[in-house]
Amino acid sequence: MRYLVTGGAGFIGSHLCEHLLRRGDEVVVLDDLSTGAEHNLAAVTGHPRLRLRTGSAAELGTVLDAARDVDGIFHLAAAVGVFAILDHPLRSLRTNLHGTESVLEAARQRGIPMLLASTSEVYGKNDKPGLREEDDRVLGAPQRNRWSYADAKAIDEALTYCYHREFGLGAVVVRLFNTVGPRQRGHYGMVLPRFVAQALANEPLTVFGDGSQVRCFCHVDDVVPAMHALLTEESAHGTAYNLGSAEPVSIRELAERVIAVTGSASEIVTVPYSAAYGPGYEDMTSRIPDCTRARERVGFAPRHSLEQIIESVVAANRASLRSVS
Ligand code: UDP
Repeated sequence: MRYLVTGGAGFIGSHLCEHLLRRGDEVVVLDDLSTGAEHNLAAVTGHPRLRLRTGSAAELGTVLDAARDVDGIFHLAAAVGVFAILDHPLRSLRTNLHGTESVLEAARQRGIPMLLASTSEVYGKNDKPGLREEDDRVLGAPQRNRWSYADAKAIDEALTYCYHREFGLGAVVVRLFNTVGPRQRGHYGMVLPRFVAQALANEPLTVFGDGSQVRCFCHVDDVVPAMHALLTEESAHGTAYNLGSAEPVSIRELAERVIAVTGSASEIVTVPYSAAYGPGYEDMTSRIPDCTRARERVGFAPRHSLEQIIESVVAANRASLRSVS
C-alpha cells in the first residue's frame, strides 16, 4: 500500500513512517518542516519506498498532488505544543483548521480513507477518570488562547464526521493522550522530554503548578500500529478512538522517577502556571483515558510501562547527546 503522511517529519509522524516502511508500504511525507525536521527521518533517509515533499497541508493543490496514487492519508500535520499555541495563536488556528479541511477534501476527491490525529485536549477540563469518547467537553472561555487548540481540533473532528456522513468518506479520528518517546522535543512545552533534558544536564526539573496534575503517558510505538489498524479497518470509520495508556502518574512523581532513572543530581522546583504560561492559564487536573473502544475494535493494548517509557526516552537523549559531542 502507499500512504500519505502529513506531518511525517514530526515526532509521531516519523515513527509512523518507520512503521509503514517496516511493513513494506510506500510512504509519501508532506511536511512544511515548521516543527518537524528532516533529521527525524534520519533512520529511513534514502529509503527507496519513502518520498519527502516539503509543503503545507493547508494548500489543497499541494495535498491533492501528494495524494496522487495513494491508498490512504494519515493527517498529523498540525501546530502542536502549548508554548507554540500560546506564542502563535492565529497561525496555529489557521494551520489546524485549514490543514484538516484540505486533507478531507483531497481524500474525498481521490476517494481514499483518511485518519485525523486529534487530541485528548478536546475533553478540556473534564477530569473524569477513564474518559470515554462520547464524554462531554468542558472548556474555558474562547477569549483564552489556551483553548484554541482544543477548539480547532474539535472542529477538525466535526468536519471529519461530516465528510464521513455526507460523502461516505472512510474517515476515522484518534484522540492521542500524551504520546511520548524518542525524538519528541521539549521546546514546545512537552513535559517528558523537558524533564529528561533537565535531568541529564543536572538542571532543576521545572514542575508547573503544584505537580499534583495527573497524566497517562503512552509510548509512540504502541500508538502508531493502532493508527494504521484504525485507518485500514473500514468498520472503525466514522467515529473517534482514545489512544493512551492506563498508568496514571502525577507530574511531580514523573519528575522524581526521571531523576531516579537518570541518577541525576537535579532538584525539583515548582513554577507557578502564570510564570510558565502567562496569566490566566488553566491546566487539566487529570486526564486518564478509557481505551475500551480501540481495544475492542483493533486490539489496542499498550505494552510499554511508564518505567520502560522513561528509560527509552533517557537512552535516546543520551545517544543524541553523544552524537553531538
Ligand atoms: N509541565 C510541567 N513542566 C514542564 C512542562 C510541562 O510541569 O516543564 C506540565 C504541564 O503544565 C502539564 C503536564 O506537565 O500539567 C503535561 O504537559 P504537556 O505539555 O506535556 O502535555 P499536556 O498534558 O498539557 O497536553
